[in-house]
Amino acid sequence: MFQHVETAPPDAILGLNEAFRNDPSPEKINLSVGVYKDEKGGTPVLKCVKEAEKRLLETESTKSYLPIDGRASYNSAVRSLLFGTEHEVVTTNRAVTVQTPGGTGALRVAGDFIAANFPGASLWLSQPTWPNHPNIFTAAGVPLKTYAYFNKATNGLDFDGMLSALKGADKGDVVLLHGCCHNPTGIDPTPQQWKTIADLIQEKELLPLLDFAYQGFGEGLSEDASGLREIARSGQEMLICSSFSKNFGLYNERVGALTAVAPGQAEAIAVLSQMKKVIRSNYSNPPTHGAAVVETVLTDDSLRTMWEEELAHMRNRINGIRKLFVDKISACGIDQDFSFIQQQNGMFSFSGLNQMQVDQLRSEMSIYIVGSGRINVAGISEANVDRLCEGIKKVTS
Ligand code: PMP
Repeated sequence: MFQHVETAPPDAILGLNEAFRNDPSPEKINLSVGVYKDEKGGTPVLKCVKEAEKRLLETESTKSYLPIDGRASYNSAVRSLLFGTEHEVVTTNRAVTVQTPGGTGALRVAGDFIAANFPGASLWLSQPTWPNHPNIFTAAGVPLKTYAYFNKATNGLDFDGMLSALKGADKGDVVLLHGCCHNPTGIDPTPQQWKTIADLIQEKELLPLLDFAYQGFGEGLSEDASGLREIARSGQEMLICSSFSKNFGLYNERVGALTAVAPGQAEAIAVLSQMKKVIRSNYSNPPTHGAAVVETVLTDDSLRTMWEEELAHMRNRINGIRKLFVDKISACGIDQDFSFIQQQNGMFSFSGLNQMQVDQLRSEMSIYIVGSGRINVAGISEANVDRLCEGIKKVTS
């Protein structure tokens, strides 16, 4: 029966992580997978999460199923985090949220919802984008198109290329935008550019889908939501996929949400019913624990303050490392310019290293970087930065 089944290739990023684990070198460096690392190279549980878990353990009274769309107060806390409590989208009840297993779960529910309710619509992805985006939307049966994003010559945004591609989109097409901290490039539009993108979306009647996996990792919780809030103009419809894997460090608890902003409350109710239909046939209803933790932290003043401090610490560490890396690179006399790394946001940067250099770093120095040259900046530390620079000098000279 199974003889005809062929072995699928391993996931490019997670496969690299496995190779790292098996590498016996005591000096190995992992800049591949998208997980925050602290100064010691660990990914510990946040203190606010530990405290919320303590409270939940004491108060939990049942393991009965959640509703299909998850915890109502979690969903409401997610909307407030996205828009603030006073935003018209929130106060007019034209936004609905479903709790999902991680940001990936939110993207897949969005994909199935689009395939079922927007037949004929294409989904536009930035070139490049997170490699799982095409997997998810192809599996959901949504046709894909791409728009330019990265300008290799400037290591910045190819804004003209992006606009001219999106001008070719048809009415009702879906445009996936990274809400902040673009993965893999670390390059985000400026506030003025967000305004232009929002104008174009409105003018061409496109449906924006914001993938928001790094809120708080760029400049701050509300600063990072400014692009999304620019798009959420009066009457504008949109989809938002939230993930709390990074900003709460809840990677293995699978906590996310899909929010749909409809033109009015009646449409929002219909959209919610369709999203619930998708969920019922996928995983029936979401797991409780991670969402209960996020809800507890977001709705308790002292835990929320603790979280914002811990999040700021992670953000500041990454920004400090960007500076340290750029300083060290220039101090060790490498010709290639890496100063753009300091202008980029979030955990990732496109280093500009090519496949051959990446392969050489791995085979000769046990330094693991994704083939595209994307580096997880959080994987760099005071302890490994000199060795990393030494490696980069070796492969670039
Ligand atoms: N979108 C982007 C851009 C991501 O980088 C990630 C995580 N790497 C996700 C979505 C998915 O997040 P989660 O782990 O919560 O499924």
